[in-house]
Amino acid sequence: MSTESHLRLVWVYPDLLSTYGDRGNLLILEHRAALRGLPVECVEVRSDRPLPADGDIYLLGGGEDGPQSLAAQRLIADGGLHRAANRGAVVFAVCAGYQLLGRSFYAKGTQYSGLGLLDLHSDRGPSRAVGELAGDIDARLGLPPLTGFENHGGRTHLGPEAHPLARVTAGIGNDGTTEGAWRGRILGTYSHGPALARNPALADLLLQWAVGGALAPVDNTWPERLRKERLSAVTPS
Ligand code: GLN
Repeated sequence: MSTESHLRLVWVYPDLLSTYGDRGNLLILEHRAALRGLPVECVEVRSDRPLPADGDIYLLGGGEDGPQSLAAQRLIADGGLHRAANRGAVVFAVCAGYQLLGRSFYAKGTQYSGLGLLDLHSDRGPSRAVGELAGDIDARLGLPPLTGFENHGGRTHLGPEAHPLARVTAGIGNDGTTEGAWRGRILGTYSHGPALARNPALADLLLQWAVGGALAPVDNTWPERLRKERLSAVTPS
């Protein structure tokens, strides 16, 4: 946690990367930290401002091609996210935000450099991937199956240094086989919804990484009901 002993959550570029309700991920983290009595400060940083390097968790959302390429260029020029990631901050990114953490991606037919924080690159698929997304998460993360909603034209290919977040059981994700990626405390997914409202255990994992220890258990009846309802809609048992 930051030196002021509160959790600093940074919502990166709300003016460019805030599609499909992804700002809800910030609200969920704030709420689930508050349930544990953890003091939280939420910082929203527009793309014309320098990104603070002293955050605990950085959140990036989805975006259309134009805003996505602009966000990548500004983040590379700014350097704050690199500095934060290099000192071990947690980074959680969705869709366009996920693609731009990789080495390169396509937007409006042009290839752009990404930040290179994850060993992956994205190109375009034969059709847009739109609909429910589900997958069995990497067992090392100790999480129940992922559920989300995807809407993207890109396809993502992982290099050896990036672990797939999940094996797809419904939808497309990266390429129809794997979904998302993680390395250290950097984690990306195609799951909107927003992802952390539908996957409360994933929200808690990010908080645990940030505080460096276990969290007190909380009543998960309602978020678990949502997660299971969405999962059973696409992967009936
Ligand atoms: N523009 C990217 C794509 O279409 C990301 C879209 C999104 O963030 N939903 O692949």
